[in-house]
Amino acid sequence: MSERSGRADEPHPNVWFPFTTIEGMPTPLTVVGARGSRIFLQDGRSVIDCISSWWVNLFGHAHPRIADAIHGQALELEHVIFAGFTHEPAERLAAALANMLPDALERVFFSDDGSTSVEVALKMAYQYWANRGEHRPTFLAFEGAYHGDTFGAMAVGAESAFTGVFGDLLFAVERMPFPDTWIGDETVEEREAAVLDRLRARLAVPERPVAAVIAEPLVQGAGGMRMCRDEFLRQLRAVTEEAGALLILDEVMTGFGRTGARFACERAGVEPDLVCLSKGITGGFLPLAVTVASARVYEAFVSRDAAKTFWHGHSYTANPLGCAAALASLELLVEHEPVFRGMEAHHRGFLERLDPELTARPRACGTIAAFDLRTDGPGGYFDGVGDLIKRRTLDKGLLLRPLGNTIYFMPPYSLTDAERTAMYDGTIELVEEVAGG
Ligand SMILES: *Cc1c(COP(=O)(O)O)cnc(C)c1O
Repeated sequence: MSERSGRADEPHPNVWFPFTTIEGMPTPLTVVGARGSRIFLQDGRSVIDCISSWWVNLFGHAHPRIADAIHGQALELEHVIFAGFTHEPAERLAAALANMLPDALERVFFSDDGSTSVEVALKMAYQYWANRGEHRPTFLAFEGAYHGDTFGAMAVGAESAFTGVFGDLLFAVERMPFPDTWIGDETVEEREAAVLDRLRARLAVPERPVAAVIAEPLVQGAGGMRMCRDEFLRQLRAVTEEAGALLILDEVMTGFGRTGARFACERAGVEPDLVCLSKGITGGFLPLAVTVASARVYEAFVSRDAAKTFWHGHSYTANPLGCAAALASLELLVEHEPVFRGMEAHHRGFLERLDPELTARPRACGTIAAFDLRTDGPGGYFDGVGDLIKRRTLDKGLLLRPLGNTIYFMPPYSLTDAERTAMYDGTIELVEEVAGG
């Protein structure tokens, strides 16, 4: 059954690929290996992984320290039930994360991926109020948000072509504009103030009280690498705090150095009530996620009452292999501090080289840089120019995956000077070629 059948130049007959329109899909490229920032293809080519393999890789592929940690752990304890039983890798990881995150965040709840970490945060926030005897039925989220593909995560994400078919099944969420900004933007303070006024007014309405506001801090990822200012995040915290609503920060993408600090909340100096982490948590080796709750949230669940218990868990909760990978990854994170703190300056230098006739909204936050191509198309995710770039990028030896007409970099911290130069120069060439038709 698993023998490859059909033609080698067609997609495999037994695989259903994610985020891929089936009819007319290009044949996926077979990857035979990866080291550092490079991915090796079966056809002999290699490409620089400019997007960290969908934002998960931190220190380069096949990093020996993480590989060794997983190997060693697999020979000791590969997995065990995590209710009524515990183990050292999970407890060490929980302590290490609590130590790195803002002070109030103390309690680490394990799950498997970004979407489940968001589900957990939403359920905790809702039940937090229920356990205190309050009915707070509403979540507030941001336009353009992406929080994952499970139902709760879809509900708080932006309404889009991805979620449209399930619209009837999603719980109602109220949305606010996200005051994104870019280099040279002069309207941001005004737009931030408008959002905050609206938020303040909404939180003051006693009917339909708000359980929590959920946000991707500093950078909205899948929504197009839209960036907001640290100041806005601080104001968001102040306004939610004042009104008594919880703040959930979805740092699934922004965690572990991406914004130039260990966490976006650290960069902005903000203490959320709940934070979601996944993607880079294992350095890109294994699926693992955590939702970290403040002492205040946890307190509301401390009870003998079964109705106040958080009845949630996954088969592979706190998988020891994932925890071992994460512990090795956290050590590497500390060692790579100068790299992720220094990358924004390089990105800004690159953005200055872009032709403003061809590009718009240059922006950078830590290790992430983005800009939009000016096109005659509709813009946004389904803009065809993205597909054109996707096809041509390999000829430049780069793996880029534009979000519609938005091109972005989010490289691993293993990127060498030569690879960085190749990434920047190749992208400038691509922009000019695409603009030239
Ligand atoms: C990717 C992402 C998720 C979903 O994570 P998965 O591991 O793909 O389920 C959630 N939130 C944000 C901000 C993300 O970038």
